[in-house]
Amino acid sequence: MSPRPRRGVLSPLESPKISDMDTVSKETRSWVMSRVKSKGSQVELIVIRALKRSSRTRFLTHSRNLPGCPDIAFPKLNLAIFVNGCFWHWHGCARCRMPASNRIYWQAKIARNAKRDKQTARKLNAQGWHYVNIWECDVVRGIARALLKLEALKQNERRR
Ligand SMILES: [Zn+2]
Repeated sequence: MSPRPRRGVLSPLESPKISDMDTVSKETRSWVMSRVKSKGSQVELIVIRALKRSSRTRFLTHSRNLPGCPDIAFPKLNLAIFVNGCFWHWHGCARCRMPASNRIYWQAKIARNAKRDKQTARKLNAQGWHYVNIWECDVVRGIARALLKLEALKQNERRR
């Protein structure tokens, strides 16, 4: 990938692989990573792979039987985990910078995502499930940290 992309040119369908980005600057990489879609993204796969190695609680991935097709679901705990891209689901962290161009497009898209997330949470709650997010920035700061957060969420469910 050549130098820093112009803001707003990356189509939401493009989902760069981390290996493609080893040669680009840190700045460009974080710009691109902030726009990687959450479904099937590298970030989500990092979490699933780490869980496969470490989880002692059985979990499902992309269970179509549940509202919103959660990335990870712990049936025993009725806990549905969504590994969400900070930009796409507007976490409000440093990764959420609105591109200078196509603002209306991005804003509408993010608003649709937010609305869908709310509906998903409501549907899951109605079926006795709990909706929680693991944010992309949690994972980027370190998978160990993200897994600790997940463990804390699971403990919470057990206490309920
Ligand atoms: Zn974030």
